[in-house]
Amino acid sequence: MSSVTLINPADESILRTIEHTTVEGVDDAVARAVTAQRAWSRLAPVERAAGLRRFAAAVDLAVEELAWLEVRNSGHPITQARWEAGHVRDVLTYYSAAPERMMGRQIPVAGGLDVTFLEPLGVVGIIVPWNFPMTIAAWGFAPALAAGNAVLLKPAEWTPLTAIRLGELAVESGLPEGLFQVLPGKGTVVGERFVTNEQVRKVVFTGSTTVGKRVMAGCAEQVKAVTLELGGKSANVIFADSDLEKAAATAPYAVFENAGQDCCARSRILVERSVFDRFLELLEPAVKGVKVGLPGDNATEMGPLVAKAHFDRVSSYVPDDSQVAFRGSAPEGPGFWFAPTVLLPASRTDRVAVDEIFGPVVSVLPFDDEADAIALANDSIYGLSGSIWTRDIGRAIRVARGVESGNLSVNSHSSVRYSTPFGGFKQSGLGRELGPDAAAAFTETKNVFISTD
Ligand code: NAD
Repeated sequence: MSSVTLINPADESILRTIEHTTVEGVDDAVARAVTAQRAWSRLAPVERAAGLRRFAAAVDLAVEELAWLEVRNSGHPITQARWEAGHVRDVLTYYSAAPERMMGRQIPVAGGLDVTFLEPLGVVGIIVPWNFPMTIAAWGFAPALAAGNAVLLKPAEWTPLTAIRLGELAVESGLPEGLFQVLPGKGTVVGERFVTNEQVRKVVFTGSTTVGKRVMAGCAEQVKAVTLELGGKSANVIFADSDLEKAAATAPYAVFENAGQDCCARSRILVERSVFDRFLELLEPAVKGVKVGLPGDNATEMGPLVAKAHFDRVSSYVPDDSQVAFRGSAPEGPGFWFAPTVLLPASRTDRVAVDEIFGPVVSVLPFDDEADAIALANDSIYGLSGSIWTRDIGRAIRVARGVESGNLSVNSHSSVRYSTPFGGFKQSGLGRELGPDAAAAFTETKNVFISTD
């Protein structure tokens, strides 16, 4: 059996070794999940709701414990890790209202009564990346459980600790054995088995676009449902008429939060040419002001990158001859530290302006007018997120409608709220998570006609 040794990214100390689940282990877990799901889906909706609320209460009591696990395993700053653990509780609480609201429809037809039911799919496999281990897991497991499914969760190889603890908390809070199982392991073993095992009826995949395409192709073999949350190269579009000071002060946090390891990172800052130089003058102190430091420190705003291999990948985008406008600071010594970096690419097709770097590196590019801004924002295979800064309300609406992206904010960088839908256009994904409709995405609609003859 293979295993992985976990490293604290802030100091390179060894945390612990985790055994990987085998293909046989996945199949055993699927069999247990099938049994648990049948019983779970037969429970009265009010009982499933109560089960999810107890799970949420257990997470609430463990917020501090989960947050510190994430600090050590992923290098997330403690204040953000606390938010993430609280977010898991809130997502569970939000979807605990869903079992009693899984309403079908009554459709007028001749000769009888026609009704629809939202039936659970069965067993759902959820595959998550390492950048937000707990929150992304919860976006899948909370609505899936609420809709009456069983869930198998595969955390990323580097960051399994909070997922493992959430699996224990589910059982401790009284959810039935086998209903929510966490299976640490390799993507090519556990993840692929979710795709190939016929009793797994949906795969929720969050990760790179390359692997997502492979998962989707595999699911096609069995016409298996799939949700994909993939990469991004989102634009932060800044018009000359905007509150330039505010746009510059907030831009670093829209890309450097979680050390840029964020699918929603606004990693392209597009600035109207007439204010380009002024914006850079304002951006420099804001970037230098980002507090990069030890994740356990309450004042820290940005921690290290997650792993050495990822550090090397991000570094490869900033060779010595890069057009660096300016950089922030980062601690010296052990740990995978990478200072916030602002680049001025020579052209719009430069690879730093096109590729998802997934680190604290941002490219700033000029645009000429509104049409050019929209064209440049859309000049990407991705379409996940983005921001628009302008005081002209008509322009804000026109540009928001024009940008091909799933999640936009105007004069802010708000990203994810559990009560609003989240997902990508183009190669950023397929389907939506969160918001009022997420539980329905874990159901099949069944139509039943009852004759009145
Ligand atoms: P990754 O694609 O390498 O891995 C993601 C998950 O897939 C991991 O759990 C991995 O073990 C698993 N996996 C790997 N190969 C597999 C296979 N053949 N079959 C099934 N599963 C497999 O991605 P990563 O490097 O962990 O994460 C970074 C990527 O995730 C970035 O591209 C980022 O944009 C994306 N992401 C997207 C969102 C979103 O909501 N759109 C959120 C976070 C991260």
